[in-house]
Amino acid sequence: MTTAVVVGSGPNGLAAAVELAAAGVDVTVLEGREEIGGGTRSGEGILPGLLHDHCAAFHPMGPTSTFGRQHDLERYGLRWRTAEIDCAHPLDGGSAGVLRRSVAETAEGLGPDGKAWSRLFERNSERFDRLAEDIMQPLVRVPRHPLGMARFGLPTTLPATVLAKVLRTEQGRALFGGVAAHAFQPLDRPLSSAIGVGIITAGHHNGWVVAEGGSRAITDAMAALLTDLGGKIETGVRIETASQLPRTDITMFDLTPESIARILGDRLPPRVARAFSRFRRSPGAFKVDFAVEGGVPWTSSEARRAGSLHLSGTFAETVATEKQIAAGQMPERPFVLVGQQYLADSQRSVGDVHPVYSYAHVPYGYTGDATDAIMAQLERFAPGFRERVVGVAVRSTTEMAVYNPNFVGGDIITGAKDIRQLVFGPRLTTSPYSLGKPGLYQCSAATPPGPGAHGMCGYNAARKALAELR
Ligand SMILES: Cc1cc2nc3c(=O)[nH]c(=O)nc-3n(C[C@H](O)[C@H](O)[C@H](O)COP(=O)(O)OP(=O)(O)OC[C@H]3O[C@@H](n4cnc5c(N)ncnc54)[C@H](O)[C@@H]3O)c2cc1C
Repeated sequence: MTTAVVVGSGPNGLAAAVELAAAGVDVTVLEGREEIGGGTRSGEGILPGLLHDHCAAFHPMGPTSTFGRQHDLERYGLRWRTAEIDCAHPLDGGSAGVLRRSVAETAEGLGPDGKAWSRLFERNSERFDRLAEDIMQPLVRVPRHPLGMARFGLPTTLPATVLAKVLRTEQGRALFGGVAAHAFQPLDRPLSSAIGVGIITAGHHNGWVVAEGGSRAITDAMAALLTDLGGKIETGVRIETASQLPRTDITMFDLTPESIARILGDRLPPRVARAFSRFRRSPGAFKVDFAVEGGVPWTSSEARRAGSLHLSGTFAETVATEKQIAAGQMPERPFVLVGQQYLADSQRSVGDVHPVYSYAHVPYGYTGDATDAIMAQLERFAPGFRERVVGVAVRSTTEMAVYNPNFVGGDIITGAKDIRQLVFGPRLTTSPYSLGKPGLYQCSAATPPGPGAHGMCGYNAARKALAELR
């Protein structure tokens, strides 16, 4: 029987393990922490019963992930939930750019920008199921739907600052810029639209869904499926050197290029080791969770109904702060993402006390404390917020890396998603999952299609390993 070991139980490690086990491989997952799930863990942290997502929160790509659809994770308890409004981008003065699941309703709310918004997103979001089959694969291959990919892909090659010119209102431009900022890179660079356009298109198709009971439900479902398929998971096993690894036909790493190079040492081909030593990191995230009595008193009424919010002011302000963090400077008013997942999943609250999720974009490896800057951004768009806070839990960039070595320096997207790393992953190759030696593979979010709890890096890597075995 073919044997495999997967190091790391994030969504990609577990997806790889499931795919291998489904093909009849004897798989064991080794996880360094006592708890599985990597960037999908959730749990209490401030008050008993109050449920926080410790990392990932929103999953607009989740319902159309080929992995999820093939394995029907709903059978194992995964339920997607949405808030009434997917995302709001409040502005000074009380107005907001508002993203709803329906393109038509979003367009209506954007007034003069409605037509341009529909032109950008309507057709692609209707066909997102088919589109996802291509964009969730490495981009260096012949697409299954070349025309659809060309239609989707063309605008994504543009810098976000150029694409934003089709929008005229501050609400429309700020809304687009806030989502584009998920790329964690200067928005005047080529391809800096790609991640934003992808998220908005997926969101119009699926909604900005959260997992009922917290994001951990995603990897709990994967782990239950893996167990049903005969796979095993061992927790509390941190791999530091290759000598700890059992002899197996396939060794799959759900780890960063740096960790893989450290573990494999001279077992890694020198050309791969050299490429990994040049792996570029992205700016970081500084996370603060709040327990808030009565919820956040947003000035914008739409913001009160939105599952997620981007706090970064105008489009120009977003562009400026993302440039600053990429240059290693901490902005006075950073980009802050806020999550009100409890609006979609009320069991996360305790009475009238609600878990409010936030993180600020900060320079890579930022050593300061961004808590006050985050609170000031919340207070800017929701005066009176501070008085409602009854508890706070902070995770700095340093603590983030201790919590999960894949997020070193607070880099939550596992490496800069500039043109080269977005298209190819950690090294220039058409085979991004291979480590250059038979039987050795990588499958973390450093590889295509990149960050998220969709499991597609693991799914693609496992299929590559199985194909090479045959
Ligand atoms: C604050 C934050 C917010 C985010 N928000 C979102 C969001 O809203 N939506 C979204 O889709 N994504 C979001 N993400 C990103 C998402 O969490 C990641 O892209 C995803 O978890 C990557 O999955 P992975 O399997 O590649 O790696 P990970 O989830 O990082 O899993 C890696 C696993 O390997 C283990 N490990 C590491 N080193 C070793 C070792 N040496 N030995 C054994 N085990 C080891 C780790 O403990 C971990 O369990 C967010 C992340 C963070 C931190």
